[in-house]
Amino acid sequence: MKIEEARRYHKIDAVIVGAGLAGLRAALEVAKSGLSAAVITKVYPTRSHSGGAQGGIAAALANVSEDSLEAHMFDTIKGSDYLADQDIIERFVNEALKTVYEFEHMGVPFSRTEDGRINQRPFGGHSAPRACFAQDITGHVLLHTLYEQCLQHNVLFFNEFQVLSLLLRDDVCRGLVAWDIRAGGLHIFQTRAVLLATGGYGRAWKVTSNAHANTGDGVALVLEAGLPLEDMEFVQFHPTGLYKHGILLSEAARGEGAYIVNDRNERFMKTYAAAKMELAPRDVVSRAEQTEINEGRGIHGQDYVYLDLRHLGREKILSRLPQIYDLALNYLKVDAIQEPVPIQPTAHYSMGGIPANVRTEVIKDAAGQVVKGLYTAGEASCLSLHGANRLGTNSLQDAATFGRIAGIHMTEFCRKNAFSDLPVKPLETAQGKIDRLWSGGKERHAPIREILQENMTRAMGVFRNQDDMLKMLAVIKELQERYQQVGVDDHGQAFNLDLVEALELENLLSFSEVIVEGALARKESRGAHFRSDFPKRNDGDWLRHTLAWRRGGKIVLDFSKAVVIYPQYQPQERKY
Ligand SMILES: Cc1cc2nc3c(=O)[nH]c(=O)nc-3n(C[C@H](O)[C@H](O)[C@H](O)COP(=O)(O)OP(=O)(O)OC[C@H]3O[C@@H](n4cnc5c(N)ncnc54)[C@H](O)[C@@H]3O)c2cc1C
Repeated sequence: MKIEEARRYHKIDAVIVGAGLAGLRAALEVAKSGLSAAVITKVYPTRSHSGGAQGGIAAALANVSEDSLEAHMFDTIKGSDYLADQDIIERFVNEALKTVYEFEHMGVPFSRTEDGRINQRPFGGHSAPRACFAQDITGHVLLHTLYEQCLQHNVLFFNEFQVLSLLLRDDVCRGLVAWDIRAGGLHIFQTRAVLLATGGYGRAWKVTSNAHANTGDGVALVLEAGLPLEDMEFVQFHPTGLYKHGILLSEAARGEGAYIVNDRNERFMKTYAAAKMELAPRDVVSRAEQTEINEGRGIHGQDYVYLDLRHLGREKILSRLPQIYDLALNYLKVDAIQEPVPIQPTAHYSMGGIPANVRTEVIKDAAGQVVKGLYTAGEASCLSLHGANRLGTNSLQDAATFGRIAGIHMTEFCRKNAFSDLPVKPLETAQGKIDRLWSGGKERHAPIREILQENMTRAMGVFRNQDDMLKMLAVIKELQERYQQVGVDDHGQAFNLDLVEALELENLLSFSEVIVEGALARKESRGAHFRSDFPKRNDGDWLRHTLAWRRGGKIVLDFSKAVVIYPQYQPQERKY
């Protein structure tokens, strides 16, 4: 393939990987400045996982009760189990209001109070009703509105393109290479600035709320480029996944007043978080639920408990939570107006990811040195806003706010910097990945992925311990070996999903190793990372971020990146 082929070579000021809330918001900002902005996305933009978000987007608007920026800041710090960087949270809570009003002005149909203001519902770990929402389809309306805005401002879209390698040399990002899923073939993008907004990585687990596309491609690309990842051991489990499917029943249900009960019909949260009950943060509720199950108080002694909405009544359920009602009915044949819904913890959100500073510039070490022209935002990033545990509704806000901030800084960067030369053989890495699968051996991607997911669900769940994690590491090593022999059966160019999934599997295997290594090294329990062999938080040794590189086939860890803590928000015991 020749680089001169016009159809397959593109020169664009800013290229944004990912069409979720973070990517689209950044693209809109760049496009408004008059520079050329392109979005590359594996799935059609409105199918990005942001569209599946149900419950709401946080901002201390104080539309239905007293609230303040300080309260939003403190709740986020406490929710993070003190691992979040407080300068990032400060910027976040300050910008959050603007982000919501901007969405309102773009035409997002928020649910309203009687007197016409944006309605706000309670959410776990927030001390005031702070979640702005549109029924239980908040992500859907935000994503569609933003997509329309992008089309109006002439953002270029490369839909169903899968990015396979970053073109990075001398700490400068010069572009990337992507596979055209629809027609086949590799495309080179030469750019001044790249944003990685590739979303989360829940698909490494069997029981997960995440979309099929959430395979952590962005984090794996960064690792492959010799750059570090941050705090990957912190993965959030959401307490109300639909039993066996993992599909999410939003926390909005509990925000509206739903209960969680065990086999004795007890609201067991009174034992674990008497003040906040079902609206304690997710790490706390998931652990409580798993404890009930482990101690035999799951429904009929099995591995699930009930989410009970019945007392909310038909009208509230159908007007405020229609999607939740449909999901329970369609997937479990449970009518939530009449019956309680079986639920279990489900892998949900990636607190860790690609390290970046408050300007969303990707950093390459604990000292914060930046990689020129490379940015990240949304769930793929780790700024770190959510620390060891994210509060519900803070992530749509994170994606939109830091998407906008990324757009501002990328525009500035593009105005000051010329295009850099591409590496001599830009296609080499991406082509190598495809060639290997094309001419590969007897192994197939599907069984390897299944083994990975089953084991991650078993060993890297709500509770972890050294023995299980060591076994998990051995499984990953063996699967990585087997991956070397993976071949694809489909050798077609158009919509070769056999190839797409095989490429994604390499990424799953790559970052899962980092999660396990980080979790093994962190000998404490904090937020979503709970070790039954080290059940206490240990600020003396572990109030620090984890950075992880892949070097010489091994994961190398560094704990010298300090947490940014303000004098007025010193770590305290975390009780709800
Ligand atoms: C079911 C569910 C409900 C949720 N509800 C809420 C909620 O109510 N409130 C809240 O605040 N948060 C919620 N969250 C979390 C929140 O939705 C996400 O964290 C957020 O939307 C992530 O946005 P994003 O832009 O970072 O990524 P995503 O929306 O996940 O988009 C990722 C994009 O990257 C693209 N991509 C990935 N890899 C590649 C590749 N190799 N090449 C090209 N493109 C690629 C994909 O095509 C996609 O466009 C929920 C999450 C889930 C799973």
